[in-house]
Amino acid sequence: MNKCKECGSYAINVGRCGRDDSDPDLCDVCYWRVRYERSQAIVAKLLQGIDVAVQKLLCVELERSIREVPEIVKACDRQALQILQEAAEEARRP
Ligand SMILES: [Zn+2]
Repeated sequence: MNKCKECGSYAINVGRCGRDDSDPDLCDVCYWRVRYERSQAIVAKLLQGIDVAVQKLLCVELERSIREVPEIVKACDRQALQILQEAAEEARRP
């Protein structure tokens, strides 16, 4: 019987309990922990991307305000900014 390379457990059920055939050297707990940690890293990266996009939109809106673009364009930018900020806030909720 195989032992988990991370924790030494023998609870390795490849292809069962929602597992695919990858990482046959990990027990079920470590298999899912590794995937959870990867997904958390992806979420953190996405949130970072949203922050950068929001900052960019703020700069663009400020620039456009200075140039006095038509009011309708500014309203669209504000709406997009609000949607992104709400998404970022929701994603950060525990
Ligand atoms: Zn393990």
